[in-house]
Amino acid sequence: MNNKELAHLIYPSHPHTPEEYEAMYPARDLPEGAMVTRLGPSPTGFIHLGNLYGAFVDERLAHQSGGKFFLRIEDTDDKRFVENAVETIISSLAFFDINFDEGVTENGDVGEYGDYTQSHRGEIYRTFAGKLLEEGLAYPCFLSEEEISEVREQQEAAKLTPGIYAGWSKYRDWDKDKSVEEEICARIKAGDPFVIRLKSKGVPNVSAEETSRHIVKDAIRGELSVPDNFQDTVIIKQTGIPTYHFAHVVDDHLMRTTHVVRGEEWLPSLPIHVELFEDLGWELPIYCHTAQLMKIGEDGNKRKLSKRKDPELSLDYYRSQGYHPAAVREYLLTILNSNYEEWRAADPEAPIDDFKFTTEKMSSSGALFDLNKLNDVSKSTLLHIEASELAAWLRKWSEDYAPEFEYVFKDMDKLAAMLDMGRHDARPRADLVYARQIMDFISYFFDESFTIEDEYPQEAAADAAAILKAYLDTYDHSDDNGQWFEKIRTLSTDLGYAAKPKDFKKHPEEYKGHVGHVSAVIRIALMGRSNSPDLWTIQQIMGEDVVRDRIKREIEKLSN
Ligand code: GLU
Repeated sequence: MNNKELAHLIYPSHPHTPEEYEAMYPARDLPEGAMVTRLGPSPTGFIHLGNLYGAFVDERLAHQSGGKFFLRIEDTDDKRFVENAVETIISSLAFFDINFDEGVTENGDVGEYGDYTQSHRGEIYRTFAGKLLEEGLAYPCFLSEEEISEVREQQEAAKLTPGIYAGWSKYRDWDKDKSVEEEICARIKAGDPFVIRLKSKGVPNVSAEETSRHIVKDAIRGELSVPDNFQDTVIIKQTGIPTYHFAHVVDDHLMRTTHVVRGEEWLPSLPIHVELFEDLGWELPIYCHTAQLMKIGEDGNKRKLSKRKDPELSLDYYRSQGYHPAAVREYLLTILNSNYEEWRAADPEAPIDDFKFTTEKMSSSGALFDLNKLNDVSKSTLLHIEASELAAWLRKWSEDYAPEFEYVFKDMDKLAAMLDMGRHDARPRADLVYARQIMDFISYFFDESFTIEDEYPQEAAADAAAILKAYLDTYDHSDDNGQWFEKIRTLSTDLGYAAKPKDFKKHPEEYKGHVGHVSAVIRIALMGRSNSPDLWTIQQIMGEDVVRDRIKREIEKLSN
């Protein structure tokens, strides 16, 4: 039996030849320099910040260069499959404005380079595995789990690199041993399970200095010096399904991916991919191995974000808390490109896509993720979104994630006015961070959520009822801000409080307190909090009835 006959024994026929596939998926007709990128998530149901981080790089590279960005579903690990996971991936990314040009969509595949779901591509992988078999670059291997463990023990005892490689699987050299050849033939015919392994050309167990190396382009890390692979890596599993390694090489070649953006956890397998590309006679894509997302842990040390400990790893966290996608995008760019913040500071109003994202400015060591920083970025991002737009966005968020806030959206103009408080001042107030926080921030406007949270200042607590009565008597909703405050001053002096804080500071023995203590009482009665945007503005938004009603109710409460 020769290689060709072995290949034929394993795969008696294929619907297409490798050449036909090459013709079916020709080089893309794109302008010079256009990049083709892809996201290849596994449908595990958990879509995380790392996916978004990578997707962002993919999206920017493709769309900045006039290229294409596609979605491929990598479901070769069937144990991990979760119902509706694909819909979750698509909608989560769309929420953050990550949109694909082709690939899997909610309504089937779009594009000429599909099928875009790996489990539908079995024939393609088997065709190329057949090609490697024919060329003597792969072989069927019948080693059982137990045999593989035995191999490992022997290798450990002999201090050799573990794995199946030259010398460790008799099936590798089947053509040199008649009995093995007969065994292979018989077992294939009998339908015994086997895997297909790459027959690596690398020399095992040579020192790092002696091993041959390949220069591989990485757009983030520069040129990588990749040692020869010598492992006979599995390319097709017993189930007939390819491993990640094989699927990556076949798909990224046939789908004409120019830039493979993926996590740095794949760096150790790069030697395998280099050998596979070479064996198949294909050009390597440019890799972009992104750094792990890290955070400062409880002990002050950097650590990887963990699914178990860090809810903020899940993209769902940002949606359910109601982070505006523009803020998350803005923040991601600050961790993705070291020159982004400087660019943003120079032009706070520029559309985010005007920034020229580059892989060279990406960090190759851990990227630090910090929720506090995200909150800061969010505050300034929201300042640039019109209040009415923000109000509409909040309503959508509430419908999807927090229907209990329905009452907030009864009067959208009023809501916009609440959101806009202090945002046009010379030094704009940046109070708004994310939807749940905003619901809390404006909660005092609504009887449904109004509660008195703070205590009256000690200096004025005893006079609270008197202050509120005097306030109610003189209150005129049509007063402007100046007139209104003048009345509070007068009321303060009448009740024995200094009209100016500095007078009280100078002569504390002459006053009970100052105008600030008096207005704090009013503020707390109206809003329940001692700290808030401009009180006059708040009252104008609340309306006269609510103002009078709250003050009256508080006077009643105090006199009981
Ligand atoms: N399916 C792989 C993963 O989820 C994708 C890696 C790649 O982008 O090549 O890690």
